[in-house]
Amino acid sequence: MRLTQYFLPTLKENPAEAQIVSHRLMLRAGMIRQSSAGIYSWLPMGFKVLQKIEQIVREEQDAAGCQEVLMPTIQPAELWRESGRYDDYGAEMLRIKDRHGRDMLYGPTNEEQITEIFKASTKSYKQLPKLLYHIQWKFRDEVRPRFGVMRGREFLMKDAYSFDLDYEGAVRAYRKFFVAYLRTFARMGLKAIPMQADSGPIGGDMSHEFQILADTGESRVFCHKDFLKFDPLQSEIDFDADLKPIVDKWTGLYAAADEKHDPAKCPVPADQLLDARGIEVGHIFYFGTKYSAPLGANVDGPDGKSTTVHMGSYGIGVSRLAGAIIEASHDAAGIIWPESVAPFQVGLINLKVGDAKTDALSGDLYAKLKQKKIDVLYDDRDERAGAKFADMDLIGLPWQIVVGPRGAASGTVEVKNRKSGEKAEMPLEQALAKVAPKAV
Ligand code: ATP
Ligand code: MG
Repeated sequence: MRLTQYFLPTLKENPAEAQIVSHRLMLRAGMIRQSSAGIYSWLPMGFKVLQKIEQIVREEQDAAGCQEVLMPTIQPAELWRESGRYDDYGAEMLRIKDRHGRDMLYGPTNEEQITEIFKASTKSYKQLPKLLYHIQWKFRDEVRPRFGVMRGREFLMKDAYSFDLDYEGAVRAYRKFFVAYLRTFARMGLKAIPMQADSGPIGGDMSHEFQILADTGESRVFCHKDFLKFDPLQSEIDFDADLKPIVDKWTGLYAAADEKHDPAKCPVPADQLLDARGIEVGHIFYFGTKYSAPLGANVDGPDGKSTTVHMGSYGIGVSRLAGAIIEASHDAAGIIWPESVAPFQVGLINLKVGDAKTDALSGDLYAKLKQKKIDVLYDDRDERAGAKFADMDLIGLPWQIVVGPRGAASGTVEVKNRKSGEKAEMPLEQALAKVAPKAV
C-alpha cells in the first residue's frame, strides 16, 4: 500500500481526551475514531489489526474443537425473561422496541440465545459434547466508558459456550478453553496470567480471568514471578488428550486479583511475588445449569432419563486486545506491534521522492516485497525525513526499510527493527531476506 493513497489520518498532537497510552496512540496513529462515548469506528489500519487479532482467536478456538457460528446482535426480550436476566441486568442493557411494540435488546452476551439454539436440536447425550463460539459486537451501557476501546460500550467479543452431559464433561471443556486461551494470548506476544475469579453462586474453582500485566491495568494483581518464565507455545497441543497436567501447572502457582488477595494468607514470599496491574483480556466460567435449567435444555442420558446439560461460557475481549497489546508494547515514539498482529510487516521509507535513483530502488523493493506477499506500507510522500521517521515509529510496524539517495547510488538500504532499534546498511537482497526470512 502506498501511503499517498492510504487513509491514515495521523495526529501530531496528543488528543486531550485520552488518558492512557493505548488510547492516545490509537487516535494518533489513525486507527480509530470516536463516534460517541465508548463507540468507535475502526479506520483501515485499526481494522487490519482487529482482524488479525480476531483471526488468531479463531484459529485457536477451531484448534480446540470449537465450532464457529454467528448469532445476531439484536435479541428478543422473551429469551431473557425466561432466564430471569431481563430485569436483573439493569441499566447496562440497551433495550429497544420494534415497530410492533415488541421488547428487543442489543445483546450484551449470548448465553440465552445459544442455549435456545442448542436445545432446539439436541435431544440425546450422544450428540454431546458441543462447543460453539461466535465473534460478534456486544453492547453494554457501561457507567464509565473510558480508555478508548479498552472499556467501550460497543465492543467486539469472542464468546464460546460448552454443553456437556455432566460435571466431568464440563471440566474437560473448561480445560480446552483454558489451554486455548494461553496459546491465543501468547501468539499475540502477551504474557497472560490466569487468575482465579469469583465464580458466583455455584462456587468451586472453575472460573478464571486472564490478565495481562501493564502499568495502566484497571485491576491490581498479585502473582508468582515464575509465571513470567512459562511459555505456552513450547509444545504442540493435542486437544483430545488429557489437559489436566497443563492446567495444573498454570494453576499451581499463586495468582490473584486484588479482591481475592489476602496478604496475610498469601503463600508466596515477598521477593518472589509480583505486585502489578492487570488488564482482563479473557474470562472463562463454568456455571452448571444456571441457564440450561430455566430454558429447559435437557437431553436423554444413557439411562434414558432426561438430564439438564452443564454449561460454561468463555469470553475474549477482541477489541479490548487491540488496546491491551499497545499497553504492553510501546515506547516514547509510538506503538511496537508484535509481528503476529502488525497491520503491515514492513514500512518502506523513500527519503527523497523525486530523485530518480531513490525512486527506482524504492519502487523495486516495493514490487519485490509485494511479490513475496509481504504486507508493506510504502511512504512515498514528499515529506521531510524527520516527519517520515516519526510517523513510521508512531505506527510501529515491525520492520522499516529506509532508502536514501546515498545508499541508492550503491544499491544499499538501511533496515531497522522497530522493537530493538537495531539498524544496519545492507544490499537490497539481504534486506529482503532480513525482513521476510520465511517468504518464498
Ligand atoms: P469487566 O470486569 O472488565 O467489565 P466483565 O467481567 O464484564 O469484564 P465478561 O462479561 O467476562 O467481562 O466479558 C468477556 C471479556 O470481554 C472480558 O474479559 C473483557 O476482555 C471483554 N470486555 C468486557 N467488557 C468490555 C468493555 N466494556 N469493553 C471492551 N471489552 C470488554
Ligand atoms: Mg463488565
